[in-house]
Amino acid sequence: MASIRELHEQLVKKERSAVEITQEALDKIQALEPKLHSFLHVTAQQALEQARAVDAKIAAGEEIGLLAGIPIGIKDNMCTKGIPTTCASRILENFVPPYESTVTQKLLDAGAVTVGKTNLDEFAMGSSTENSAYQVTANPWDVTRVPGGSSGGSAAAVAGGECVVSLGSDTGGSIRQPASFCGVVGLKPTYGLVSRYGLVAYASSLDQIGPFGRSVEDTAILLQAIAGYDSKDSTSLKVEIPDYAATLKPDLKARRKMRIGVITETFGEGLDSVVEEAVTKAIAQLQVLGAEIHTISCPSFRYGLPSYYIIAPSEASANLARYDGVKYGLRTPDADNLLSMYTRTRATGFGTEVKRRIMIGTYALSAGYYDAYYLKAQKVRTLIKQDFENAFKQVDVLVTPTAPTTAFKAGEKTTDPLSMYLNDLMTIPVNLAGLPGISVPCGFDDNGLPIGLQVIGNVLREDQIIQVAYAYEQSTNWHLRQPAL
Ligand code: GLN
Repeated sequence: MASIRELHEQLVKKERSAVEITQEALDKIQALEPKLHSFLHVTAQQALEQARAVDAKIAAGEEIGLLAGIPIGIKDNMCTKGIPTTCASRILENFVPPYESTVTQKLLDAGAVTVGKTNLDEFAMGSSTENSAYQVTANPWDVTRVPGGSSGGSAAAVAGGECVVSLGSDTGGSIRQPASFCGVVGLKPTYGLVSRYGLVAYASSLDQIGPFGRSVEDTAILLQAIAGYDSKDSTSLKVEIPDYAATLKPDLKARRKMRIGVITETFGEGLDSVVEEAVTKAIAQLQVLGAEIHTISCPSFRYGLPSYYIIAPSEASANLARYDGVKYGLRTPDADNLLSMYTRTRATGFGTEVKRRIMIGTYALSAGYYDAYYLKAQKVRTLIKQDFENAFKQVDVLVTPTAPTTAFKAGEKTTDPLSMYLNDLMTIPVNLAGLPGISVPCGFDDNGLPIGLQVIGNVLREDQIIQVAYAYEQSTNWHLRQPAL
């Protein structure tokens, strides 16, 4: 499938209609879903109606925006009015939101065509999409492997060409790691840049919605459409939004050199040698493009994982208290009293990983352990932030591998939560510090599986990480390869 700009061009020149473009995506979905299982819910009728509305506008000679008529997938933890929103959990099996999330409303206003809701790890807890209560999504490059997670459905749908771009959410790496595994671009914005209103909360101090695309430019265009202040989200930032895609240059030879820091701590133990090699080559390429390369130490980086796995479950334990069989979704029948209704509903409605996190979080927040775990983890979070602050005094952006390995086999890590958690080693510190990060394809391993380069920016410097990723992408051919499906 073509890029957003190409499709836009075809639409305004009336070479193709929005209905034709949408039908192409729906046909692809129909053909590929038996293999990929990226979607939990396909909204074909609605998509075609949206496309017809765009065609009517074009016929009437009205101007249309870049996203008008573009097929988009939405991770199923964003509320869509009148359309089931399950978070891939049994407990929300019957939940149909009475309201629209801010991001999806913005897409509807932009005339985008929403083709369906994509699969995820239950409540976005996981790194492989295997924690979905409904289905396991396959990696388009090798269907015996996972697409990463938790936004695995959104990443696989874009990689497989089932939609042009998609939305995911990233609490500890859930956009960047699946982007890396599926050979697409994924961007986690600065905390507060994109409204979380209508995003089902996992860990509220870390959650952030962001775009997936097959190119940096497509990703930047989608970010443009969803970024911006929203009074309905109290953590939303009141800032001017730059035009991310307007000023992209094919190199990094600005008047002042782009200074890129390589975080030494991300090149240690646990990093696959093939990933290390690809990322090292990518860094050399950035230098060729005109960047100045520095090595940077972030000594607290390695405590990111343990502190995240206290903070995120703590927040989750509070956020998930609302699923009690009364307010939303599932209620287990035939309970004798209120307490047994609560416990039976939650025992049947939540999957293993979600229960594990609720228990860890409740424990970490309990009176006797709060200081030892939660408070300590928050202090470590501050140290990690300081590491980044120091780094950004010396450089403009930082680079690391996105994930320590390429996509692993389905089932390989499901019995060992710790080995699953280790996937997020390099992405988690970025969330703890509230910074923007992007993953861009930077090679393939011997099995033909994609590798991702992570570029991390300072607060609200999405423009810089997009520029670095764009210049790199334009000087390589990785993004042009397609999975053979
Ligand atoms: N894999 C991490 C977790 O399981 C991150 C998930 C996410 O970013 N939503 O919590």
